[in-house]
Order: sequence, then C-alpha cells, then structure tokens
Amino acid sequence: MKFRAIKGVQDILPPDVYLWQEVESAARQVFAPFGYREIRTPVMEFTEVFTRSIGETTDIVEKEMYTFSDRAGRSITLRPEGTAPVVRAYVENHLYRLPSPQKYYYIGPMFRYERPQKGRFRQFHQIGVEAFGEDDPRMDAEVLDMLRRFLERVGVDDLVFDINSIGCDECRPVYREALVDFLSSRLDSLCADCRRRYEVNPLRVLDCKVRACTELRRDAPRITEYLCSGCSRHFGALKDYLNLLDIPFRVDPGMVRGLDYYTRTTFEVTSESLGAQSAVAAGGRYDRLVEEFGGPAVPGIGFAIGMERLTTLIRDRHGVAEPGPSVYFAVVGDDAAGAAYKLASEMRKEGVWVELDYSGASLRSQFKKADRLKAAYVFILGEDELARGTVRYKRLSDGLQGEINRDDAVGFLHAG
Ligand code: ATP
Ligand code: MG
Repeated sequence: MKFRAIKGVQDILPPDVYLWQEVESAARQVFAPFGYREIRTPVMEFTEVFTRSIGETTDIVEKEMYTFSDRAGRSITLRPEGTAPVVRAYVENHLYRLPSPQKYYYIGPMFRYERPQKGRFRQFHQIGVEAFGEDDPRMDAEVLDMLRRFLERVGVDDLVFDINSIGCDECRPVYREALVDFLSSRLDSLCADCRRRYEVNPLRVLDCKVRACTELRRDAPRITEYLCSGCSRHFGALKDYLNLLDIPFRVDPGMVRGLDYYTRTTFEVTSESLGAQSAVAAGGRYDRLVEEFGGPAVPGIGFAIGMERLTTLIRDRHGVAEPGPSVYFAVVGDDAAGAAYKLASEMRKEGVWVELDYSGASLRSQFKKADRLKAAYVFILGEDELARGTVRYKRLSDGLQGEINRDDAVGFLHAG
C-alpha cells in the first residue's frame, strides 16, 4: 500500500526547511525589540470562534473551513486564520489585565479548503502578530514598520504596501448604502457570487476577483470619501506617520479584506512576481473584536504573513543554501575506525557536525561521499595517524592539506 499526502498540503523538506527556519528566526529577532512575545494557541477551536468573528457571509466561513463534529458531537474547526484564536485566548486568560498594550506573535499552520494552486494550499503557514490596547494611529504605523523591518531582514524589501481605511460602525453603514445604490443598477454585470453578496454583505463585492466585478468596481464610490471625522483623522495621521518613518505606501480605497472583523486600517503587502496569488502579508485593525468575544472594549491590530509565498519569493531571489557537515571521517582499518568513532562523539558534543562511514568502503569512495555531502573537511585517519595521535585533513573547497593533533581537532575547526 502506497500512501500519498492529501491534496493541497505539502511536506517541507531539507534544504527548503532551512529557509523556513531562517524566516522564523528572523521574525523572532525582528519582533522582539518591538515588544512582541510568542503565543501558541491550539490548531482547533470551537467553530463559533471563527463564524462569529470572521463573519457568516465571508468566503472563509461559507466554503473554506475544515469543520467536523468530535466524538461528543461538538462542532470543531481547524483554524483558518490566527487572529480569532488569539483574541479568544486574550479574553479567556484575562490578558487585558496586563499592562497595555499587549503584543503577541504566532507561527503555525492554518487550514482552508480552497482550490489548490500556486501560492494557495489547504494547509499553509502564517507568521502573525496581534497588538491589543492601543488605537493611536502611531500603533498602526509601528506595526507596518515592524513588517517592513522583517521583510528587509529576509531580503525582500521591494514589496508594495497598500493601505486603506474601511471606517467604523458609524461611517461604514453610510458607505454601504452608497455602494448598494451604485450596485443596484448594475446587478446584471456582477458574477453570480456577487449578486448574492450584494444581498447579504455588499462590501464583499469589493473583494471579488472575477474580472467583470473588478472592472465594474472602478467607478464605485470610494470608502475613503465616506469616513467619519474620527476615522478620517485616524487615517490621515497614519499616512503622516508612515511618511515620517519613510515607509512608502499606496492608498487602495477598494481593499476591504476577506474578514468582517476589520475596522479602520486595512493593509496588504504584495509582489508582482508572485502572479495571481500576489499577497504576501495582510492585516488590519479590529477595534470591536475583543468586545465581541466578551472582553472589555480593547482595540487591536495585527497582520499575517503567508510563509509559502514569502519563502517562494526568497528562494527565487536568493536561492537556498544547503549546509553540509564540517567534517567527514575517511578511515583505513578497524583501529582507526574505532578512534574516529570515539572522536566523532566528542566533536559532536562540542557542536561540530561530523559524518562517518560504517561500511568499511575504500578511501576513494569515502572521499566521494564527503564530496556529495558537501563536507568542509575530510579528516583522514589510518594506522600512521593513529600512532602519531594525529589526523590528516583536506579542505575540500581548495584542496589545502595538513596534519593536526587529534586533541586540537575542534579548536582547529573553530580557528579555520
Ligand atoms: P488571498 O487574497 O491571497 O486569498 P487572504 O485575504 O485570504 O489572501 P489572509 O486571510 O489575510 O489572506 O491571510 C494572510 C496571508 O496568508 C495572505 O496574504 C497569504 O500570503 C497567506 N494565505 C492566505 N491563504 C492562503 C492559502 N490558502 N495558501 C497559502 N497562503 C495563504
Ligand atoms: Mg483568501
């Protein structure tokens, strides 16, 4: 019986996994000075955690969730995104009692039943952040600053930042009416999905990727012209702070994002070179969400980076370096093999990556193996070296050869 992985999920293998590790460690390093600490929430939650927050009429909730009944008949969902679980944890653990703002990041798999294609998977991974307790636009700019610094660190600093404000409960209904007005006379040109969206959640029409709908949208009223004075001031200040921090951005008044919980600031980071699935990271403000989860009125803002798309970008630009062992032992004779075996154990204790061969193959084939593994050095150990307490070495990059005391092996590697 041969098994295959489920459609739309993938194995992450070496050397690719090194890239993933680098990206993850870059995130930890870049986020720390901004005061973000890691939070790990479960990969599954009660279904309502997502339906109530993301919105019943969003694509995610309507058709993308992995939802099942557990053995006790409760409805469980594999998390399609990270914000709702973090907000659930924030409220459940009373984290709002801690000094504000509270800033968290997470790294982990998400699950959406989407049509698998380039840059779109059913299990994918996100690095996300959530900051609770600050509604000042400086926090919005700070979050974007951190995202920019992270992208710089991983070597993709030429991406486009699109920002928008989608207003609040006060001004969005007014805009919604204007949009409905506009759409009502053009229903025939909308796709079937959007005709339904028009009824249940008209703002979602702005998110549709069908050609006819994107074209029709060009003349639609713009939300930025309907913002109330509070939202308008907030958005204006955000732009000022982004300029102050030298973060280039575009305003895209059509960007509403696929989740209903956003208020005011939304943003997306895209790269043309990714093709149709161009968004590498996206996020926004959610000032009502903590309250909706039964907590106090605490504002929040966050973003999520798509790891698959990000690593694709990095791989295309910089490739993936595949590390090899520092040392490959080439031994002649049983006594030398025993000494190498012991020395390898001691060197590994010191953190040196050592490989050796148990097959008793010829010196020539041991050298070949060292080459294939991209070892930095071959350490040669035969009867003579054994007697002298030494090893001979050969550096594979340039053929440099020499002999050192076996006791000096680790020091020699650290020096060279
Ligand atoms: P898209 O418009 O590409 O569908 P989205 O608006 O659904 O993205 P979010 O829910 O905001 O995306 O998730 C943030 C990021 O996670 C996206 O910008 C993308 O990089 C990544 N992402 C989302 N869905 C997938 C997926 N199915 N496979 C791989 N990456 C994904
Ligand atoms: Mg999507």
